[in-house]
Amino acid sequence: MKESLMDIICCPLDKQELELDVDEEDEEEVLEGTLTCTECGERYPIEDGIPNLLPPDMREA
Ligand SMILES: [Zn+2]
Repeated sequence: MKESLMDIICCPLDKQELELDVDEEDEEEVLEGTLTCTECGERYPIEDGIPNLLPPDMREA
């Protein structure tokens, strides 16, 4: 995902801002990382450049 996406996406639970932790990135985008909600602290993984913003109880095990 591009870092500019941070302006658009928010926590699906409470619509608050997310904090980006980058584990791996290239010149254009974040490939692996974690989005953490500044309000509820829920964490959303970024895998293969795609942020998984599903609430935890809707993710497949
Ligand atoms: Zn939240």
